[in-house]
Amino acid sequence: MNRAIERALRQVRGTSIVAGSGSAPGARAPRFRSHSPWNPQRALPIEFVAATARDVSDAAGAADRAFRADALADGAKRGALLRTIAEELEARRPDVLTLGVRETGLSRKRLGGEFDRMVGQARMFAAEAEDGSWVRAVIDPAAPGGPDVRRMLIPLGPAAVFGASNFPLAYGVMGGDSASALASGCPVVAKNHPAHPATGELIGRACAAAVVRVGLPEGVFQLLHSGGATDLDVGRWLVEDPRIRAVGFTGSRAGGEALAALGAARRNGHAEPDPIPVFAEMGSANPVVVTERAAAARGEAIAAELAKSILGSTGQMCTCPGLIFVPGAAARGFFDRLSARLRAPRRARAMLTPRIAAHYHDRLAALRRSGCAEASTPEATGSAAARGAPALVRVRGADVLGRAEAWDEVFGPAAVVVECDDAAPLSRLRGALVGSVYFEPEDETDPAFVALVRALAAKTGRLVCNGVPTGVRVCRAMVHGGPYPATNVPWTSAVGASAMERWCRPLCWQAAPPTLLPPELRPDNPLGIERTVNGNASRGGA
Ligand code: NAP
Repeated sequence: MNRAIERALRQVRGTSIVAGSGSAPGARAPRFRSHSPWNPQRALPIEFVAATARDVSDAAGAADRAFRADALADGAKRGALLRTIAEELEARRPDVLTLGVRETGLSRKRLGGEFDRMVGQARMFAAEAEDGSWVRAVIDPAAPGGPDVRRMLIPLGPAAVFGASNFPLAYGVMGGDSASALASGCPVVAKNHPAHPATGELIGRACAAAVVRVGLPEGVFQLLHSGGATDLDVGRWLVEDPRIRAVGFTGSRAGGEALAALGAARRNGHAEPDPIPVFAEMGSANPVVVTERAAAARGEAIAAELAKSILGSTGQMCTCPGLIFVPGAAARGFFDRLSARLRAPRRARAMLTPRIAAHYHDRLAALRRSGCAEASTPEATGSAAARGAPALVRVRGADVLGRAEAWDEVFGPAAVVVECDDAAPLSRLRGALVGSVYFEPEDETDPAFVALVRALAAKTGRLVCNGVPTGVRVCRAMVHGGPYPATNVPWTSAVGASAMERWCRPLCWQAAPPTLLPPELRPDNPLGIERTVNGNASRGGA
């Protein structure tokens, strides 16, 4: 084992972080190891102890106590926590990257960018929490015939966060879900992904250290390990605990739907129905449309851009191009150009886990077996697919209209070129996180093109013009969501400042005396927070 891994592992105990003390490794708790994506026989020299039902209950209890004690009620304190988390993470940057590369097979460069995004978004949410306007305070003072009415967003309570295997940092233990939940005032219980337990735990230890440094109760941030025999149980116990009030999930559709069903079927301590929101960010087959004019004018350049986007992170990106629609006359040439780019000699990289590699292989095989594939290149089968060899499939739009298997995500370095005679195949599109359209200036006034853009907008959360779908900027205007099955709650975004609103609900106070109002809604508005009074935005007193 190399020195860097040895040093990083010294900070990892293999246990959950439950109210700061670490779970007692009970005799019956399953143990598991972290296997190398390059060689599943090789494991890190540390055993991880999966959380027990008791650990989950203790964590939910500590989070609930922290919430009831108003530990996160003050925006300035929440901002300080998130800034301290960013500092503690930065102090561990080399170790987080070393473990991340070892556990995921993703490159250090890629994970370095993801690390910057993780700490950058923690600071962005800190600024939002400190500013306070995000609560959208609205005041309608008493008027003849009507009472004084005031509303703003209030936090739901303890949040459970499930991260995905392919973004261990930006969507992991302290990814966008955890940072936005803390910023909005919800304590977090994060479930570590068993594909990168050491990386997740090191991040969790940094966050727990920040909680202590800022002087907050340890229930504000906790981490649970899962893996081995009780793999799915930990997530189930967590979602079913009555003290958990909301769930953020990033991962597969199967996982998201299973957890959403658990959230909807929940019972409270009195065995009464008690459903909670589960925000499931899932995978999608992201559409890309290339117009005939664009294919003719710069087909080679577009193919080069798309190939890079498909190959990045071995295609294991939720925003990877999935279905590439090209008009019939241009489709064949475009397919040849793109497959030549994908075939360019490169070192095949490992996929994240053997399960993901097997799934990639199965999806490609199902597409080929379905008979709708006109051409496919290269023939990535067996071990080649397991190593993440790229593949490109060509189908005729008319042939795939009725074939469900063509419209789902293929998670890996593959795409499907759809040869279109008309816009009919676009009507079959399922909801997607993002869609791209490549066009020329002359297209903009063509009614058929305008209709095509409308069709894409109706099915996507973000519409990219003349660019690849991969790459998500963290900013206020970003939408990372989209119609089902991209997410089960299409009116929200998992990225950007609006992600905070998912962890809240609006509460309205009617005829309340100032003493009962939260500071944001008081007449003197001591926090100076921006609010809307009788339809007019204002800062300062009402
Ligand atoms: P995954 O297998 O669904 O795992 C995600 C998390 O959910 C893990 O912690 C997993 O725990 C848990 N989980 C899954 N099914 C569960 C169940 N039935 N009960 C309880 N817990 C469950 O997803 P993945 O393979 O890591 O990620 C790849 C997928 O995520 C791709 O489809 C990709 O497109 C999508 N993704 C989407 C976004 C987005 O923003 N929309 C971002 C990144 C990735 P266990 O492993 O312990 O079961």
